[in-house]
Amino acid sequence: MSLFEEKMLDLMRKGDLEKVKWMKSLDKTIMKSQIERIQQNDKTVLKEMVLPKWVSWDLLYDWAKSKQIEKGRRCILCGKANETGIEFNEKFICENCFIKLKNLQ
Ligand SMILES: [Zn+2]
Repeated sequence: MSLFEEKMLDLMRKGDLEKVKWMKSLDKTIMKSQIERIQQNDKTVLKEMVLPKWVSWDLLYDWAKSKQIEKGRRCILCGKANETGIEFNEKFICENCFIKLKNLQ
């Protein structure tokens, strides 16, 4: 279990629902660019954020680590986001799927 999950469970056990709510809303309150900086252990990001005192950097870092930031566009075939690929009838096909398709022909 991650530090973040542990903390959340602990708070639930204590009935501290305000804090649980805050933790659950992190996804919506932190911008993607900030998540990336937390993942890089860039603590200057803290200056731009308003965090409750009980939230430690470790907790935030642990949470950010579990977030995968999607780069590129979502492929219509495999459903994964990819930076390289081709546009086909206004739909995006990633490089991997495109190569597979080409080999089929
Ligand atoms: Zn694909």
